[in-house]
Formats: sequence, C-alpha cells, structure tokens
Amino acid sequence: MSTVHYTTPERAIQQALQELRAKLSGSLVGPQDPHYEEARQVWNGMVDLRPRAVVRARAIADIDATLEAARRTGLAMAVRGGGHNIAGHGTVDGGLVLDLGPLKRVEVDAGSKLVTVEPGVTLADVDRATAVHNLAVPLGVISGTGVAGLTLGGGVGWLTRSNGLTLDNLESAEVITAAGEHLHASGQENPELFWGLRGGGGNFGVVSSFTFRARHLPPAPLGGNLFYRPGHWRNALLAFARWSRDLPDEMNPIVSFLVFPEEFGMGSDPWMIIGFAWVAEDHQAGLSLADQLRAAAPPDEQEVGPASWLDWQSAMDSVFPKGSRGYWKNVSFSRLDEETVDVLLGFASELAWEGTGIDIHQMGGAFGRVPEDATAFPNRSARYWLNVYGFWRDPAEDERLTAFARKAYGLMQPFAEHGEYVNFLGAEVGIKEADAARAAYGAAKYQRLVGLKDRYDPHNVFRLNHNIPPTRTSPG
Ligand SMILES: Cc1cc2nc3c(=O)[nH]c(=O)nc-3n(C[C@H](O)[C@H](O)[C@H](O)COP(=O)(O)OP(=O)(O)OC[C@H]3O[C@@H](n4cnc5c(N)ncnc54)[C@H](O)[C@@H]3O)c2cc1C
Repeated sequence: MSTVHYTTPERAIQQALQELRAKLSGSLVGPQDPHYEEARQVWNGMVDLRPRAVVRARAIADIDATLEAARRTGLAMAVRGGGHNIAGHGTVDGGLVLDLGPLKRVEVDAGSKLVTVEPGVTLADVDRATAVHNLAVPLGVISGTGVAGLTLGGGVGWLTRSNGLTLDNLESAEVITAAGEHLHASGQENPELFWGLRGGGGNFGVVSSFTFRARHLPPAPLGGNLFYRPGHWRNALLAFARWSRDLPDEMNPIVSFLVFPEEFGMGSDPWMIIGFAWVAEDHQAGLSLADQLRAAAPPDEQEVGPASWLDWQSAMDSVFPKGSRGYWKNVSFSRLDEETVDVLLGFASELAWEGTGIDIHQMGGAFGRVPEDATAFPNRSARYWLNVYGFWRDPAEDERLTAFARKAYGLMQPFAEHGEYVNFLGAEVGIKEADAARAAYGAAKYQRLVGLKDRYDPHNVFRLNHNIPPTRTSPG
C-alpha cells in the first residue's frame, strides 16, 4: 500500500465517526451491529477483512460526509459499488467502507436512449430498466456485478463487438473529488478527467452518477451455445479461429471451458462452449453464420434460438454466488493458430474440476475501432482476451486453483500483447502497486494517469484500488 501514514488519536476518530453517524441518511454499521458480518463481505470469499465501519450511503450527501470523515481521521477508505472486485478493494481492514450499494436509481430516457444510474446499481438493475424499452447498455455477463466498478475499469460482455466496452458507452459522470468538489465529467467538460475515468478505475474520485447511451436491442436477440466434449475441442477451436477471422460486428462470441455445477445437468466432465449473441433484427443472417461454424465443427449438444435478453444476461448467475473464492487472470492476444491452440488446450484440458473456468472473448468490431488514446483503457488492437477465473467454495483449494490460474497466465505469455484488464487483476503479493499499474496500462497511459492523480487526488485518498500513486507518494 502507498505510504500515507496518519496518527489521529483514537478519541478523535471515535468522535468523527459519531458525528458521521448523526449526519447520514443511510447507516453506519460497526462491529457491534447485528448486520456487520453481512456488511463487511464482498463477492470474493478469499477477502476476509474487518473494517472499522461500513457506511451504507442512501443519499449523495452521505458520500460527502464519509469523505470528510475519511479526510479528518486519516482512515483508509474503500469505495464499494457491487462489491465484485476480485482483489477485494471494496473493503478494508480497520478503515472505512463507503458502500454505495443502496443507491440504486435508474432513469431511462427512451427517446434520447440516455440511461442515468446511481452508483449502487447492478447489471440486473440496469438490464431490467432498459429491456422494457428494447434498449440495452453494453455490460458484463453476470447480473449481480456492480456497474460502477465494471465501468471504471472497462466492461466486457455480450455486446462488446457490436457496441464496445461499457466505458465506451459512457456519456458523462458526476464525480466527487478527494477535496469534496462536485464535478461533471464528459467529452466537453473536464475532458481529461473523463478520459481517466474510462479505464483508470476509482483513482480520481467517487462517481455519484453515470450516464450511458444505450443501444437498440431486438426484442429477442439470437443466442447460441454449441457444446463440445474434450475429444472435439481441438477441431472446434481451430474451426472457431477460422470462422472468427471475419465476423460482422453483430456477432459477439465467447468460448468457454467449464465443468458445470450439478444443477445444470451437464454431467461432471468439462465442456468447451462456443456461445454467441447475434444482436440484429435479421435472425436468418445470424443463423447462416452459425451454420458455417456448425458445419466445420458439429457440436455434441447445442441450443440456438431467440433469447430473452434478461434470461441471457443471468443464465450463468448461479455459478458465481457471493462468497465464492476467486483469483483471476487476463491475457490479451491476437494469434489463434495451431501453436496457440495447442498451448491453450494444454492447460484447458487439465480442467477436470468445478470452480475454475476459462473464457476466450473475441474482441475487435466496435471495441477495436475506438482509438487507443480515446480512453485510459489499455490495448484496443488485441483480437482475443483470455480470462482464467475462479469461483470455488473450499478454502483448501486456494493454493492449487490459484496456481492453476498463474500457470495458464504464464503459458500464454509468449503470445501476450501489452495491457491487462484491471478489473480482472487480483491482489498480487510482492509486486509494487505502481509497477502493476504501469504494466497494466503501459508507460505512456500510466504517466498521463499519474498527471490526473496529482491533480485530483494528490494525497492518495482513493488508494484502495489498482492504485496509481500520485508523484509525491509514488515510489517511482
Ligand atoms: C462473478 C463476477 C463476474 C464478472 N463478470 C464480468 C464481466 O462479464 N465483464 C467484465 O468486464 N468484468 C466482469 N467482472 C469483473 C468486474 O468488472 C470487477 O470485479 C468490477 O470491479 C466489479 O465492480 P463492482 O462495482 O461490483 O466492484 P466493487 O468491489 O464494489 O468496486 C470495485 C472498485 O471500483 C471502484 N469503485 C466502485 N464504485 C465506485 C464509484 N462509484 N466511484 C469510484 N470508484 C468506485 C473502487 O476502487 C472499488 O474498489 C466480474 C466479476 C465477478 C466477481
């Protein structure tokens, strides 16, 4: 952690917290409160920290008051949206958690397609509000994930090729800075801050409101899942590599390797699944494309047809309950030739257990056309992303399954391109934050982000994140 040391006397801290409690519309939950155990938990069950207090914000003024208390006491402050951060940055030992979860308003203007949300909304909250208008904001694939953290780091899902990342669809944001200033950030107003918010995580302030531009969505987009048994993986992945070379933007595929939980009725063997969402009115065109792939690699099982968007967006939710244990890794790459496929299948075919999955997202399309410098998000040119993700339940598996993710990441390094997705970065022991952030963003973007940090958070109040230390505290 960056070296900002505070020595506020205990009595003064108690006093400040009492005053904070009195000011809140929401609540302050401390270790003595009956809801403390639930309030301190985040999605990743490996993160077991005990904050001094969790503030459940119910009004924007609660954010101001909590920030003021953090400044006054010097307590480290974690900012939590949906609590799904893999590194567990949504909580802190002995500090203050600003839990924005109760702030859940979503406003949809169907005419302008603008969707304005408070910072505690989940993907499900937004999808439910937009689907009734045949609109969708491009989000992630598990509906309990928080929109705030997802957006500030990136946001990849079933609409990435057709419409870009979640952050590419952000029109503006309301930000409360470390000094308590309220700023509007957009392409026109505070454009440099707006640049940094799109990829730079929670480094520059608390976002109290996000405004997105939604896209039109057909009432029932075409969804498909082609399932392959291990003996067919090589042929299917090579067929996918050829098929995915030249796809229209409307085709959004994700290839997964997984042992399904029992309730899916898919047995205990691992599957490779080529999933796709075709988001155009003309289903026939999407089916013709799917037919080309099915002809080259006939699936062992399949489900292809019109899908309710809300069902599609929540189909895998039960695999990832809160309290799952997770260590995740991400690699950007562009080669999917025989050599890469052999390496990939080398570790994918070890996957004989429930609790770890591997996804290959096909990128490109609208994602790839965003100029590299337009946002802080690193690497627009990669054609694929590999995600190795954990969702196991048994602490005894921590070491083995963490090692598996690290090994897969290591084996992919010969094919890796620059840039890593900060939203999938775990807390890495023994790596300096500044080094991890520099590696994730690349040197040029990192320097630009440090400039923003110096301007908006010179004392590193927002340091519980993939931290970009300001120059003053930066180790270099
Ligand atoms: C089960 C699961 C599924 C996922 N699926 C996807 C996916 O499909 N696509 C994808 O791209 N990612 C996915 N992710 C990764 C996800 O994007 C990150 O975990 C993200 O951080 C989640 O945001 P959150 O608000 O839930 O997290 P939190 O832990 O609440 O917040 C994460 C960080 O964001 C910052 N932050 C949060 N809210 C604010 C705010 N209002 N203002 C300023 N800073 C803030 C803070 O630094 C905080 O530490 C998934 C993660 C999980 C666990």
